[in-house]
Amino acid sequence: MVARIRMLLTATLLFVPTVSFLANPRAREHYVGFGVTLIAAAVAVVVYFAVRRDLYRPWVGVVTTAFDVTVISAALTVFLFLGEPHTAVNSKVVFEAYFLAIGATTLRYDVRICLLAGALATLQYTGIVAYAATHWDLNSPAYAPYPYGMFAWTVQVSRVILLAVSTVLAAAVVVRAQSLRRLSAIDRLTGVFNRGYFDERLASELSRARRHEEQLALVMLDVDHFKKFNDNHGHAAGDAALRAVSTLVRHSVRRSDLVARYGGEEFVMVMPMTSAEQAMDKMESMRQAIAELRIRLPKQQTTAHLTISAGIAIFPGDGVTADELLDEADARLFEAKEAGRNRVLGPPPAEAKLKRA
Ligand code: GH3
Ligand code: MG
Ligand code: MG
Repeated sequence: MVARIRMLLTATLLFVPTVSFLANPRAREHYVGFGVTLIAAAVAVVVYFAVRRDLYRPWVGVVTTAFDVTVISAALTVFLFLGEPHTAVNSKVVFEAYFLAIGATTLRYDVRICLLAGALATLQYTGIVAYAATHWDLNSPAYAPYPYGMFAWTVQVSRVILLAVSTVLAAAVVVRAQSLRRLSAIDRLTGVFNRGYFDERLASELSRARRHEEQLALVMLDVDHFKKFNDNHGHAAGDAALRAVSTLVRHSVRRSDLVARYGGEEFVMVMPMTSAEQAMDKMESMRQAIAELRIRLPKQQTTAHLTISAGIAIFPGDGVTADELLDEADARLFEAKEAGRNRVLGPPPAEAKLKRA
């Protein structure tokens, strides 16, 4: 999504030097602006197609952000080389592009990238201004009538303050967006992730497992006879039971494992870098722990029990796509229910597979 927006923004920005060129064909700023924007647009297109071909890596955001800011500074630096220091330090359009680069980082939901963009813009711009101020006598009458304005440190300091303020604003937007995103990813009753978030993460966990050629376990877990539990103890007790089960599940897996409520009384889990044996061991002890769990019933003095059944599917042995793995885990969950519930079913052990073959 970010790659597509970058492409769209840089392509639209190409209109700016084009329009200015039509208004005043002799100013060199348009050529530089057009050249630099064209490079930025070309890079945006390359990044977009790389990301579409599943070549995205976490550092892509950092590198493209650093590139966006640096390309703006490069445009200003070109004017120093062209012997037009006033255009570099008083540029009207090119400098404003820093704000776009900083604003665009809010799409990445990462405060560190916002701060990186702000810091780079501030440092690079200050460097350019300092170089211009020390290598040219910018207010010399030789430059009259100063089409880009005279040089004043107060103006430059104000510009740097504006960069800092826009960075803080971008970071604040990101912090807020992150908390909204967290809220929209969480199931209200149980506190684990919801299905929408799960589907998104499953896709990225699978592509990571594929890249690193690692195994991954997908588990589907369903509370046994939960309808009866609700009928016997009431709906509020059912809710308390779901909360107790999900808390136990969440605390018995690794931090890197993903737990989500898939619907009603059904949960799914993704355990990266986990073999069939490891997943089986983990789920077996989880099944026992849940069977031994004493669930406190709200507004009642008694406790209640329940059991779960689970099906495990392993990437890549049982399937390579999310749908294949979910179908296999679901089929094994169904088998576990058929076989009498309160049990975990995974892929058949290697020897059994050999015997069958
Ligand atoms: P099985 O062992 O085959 O899974 O039987 P089951 O009764 O658990 O399965 P079934 O799908 O027939 O019933 C699921 C029940 O879970 C029905 C529904 O009322 C209950 N349920 C779903 N979501 C919630 C919830 O958020 N809170 C409560 N209290 N009950 C829920
Ligand atoms: Mg059930
Ligand atoms: Mg169910």
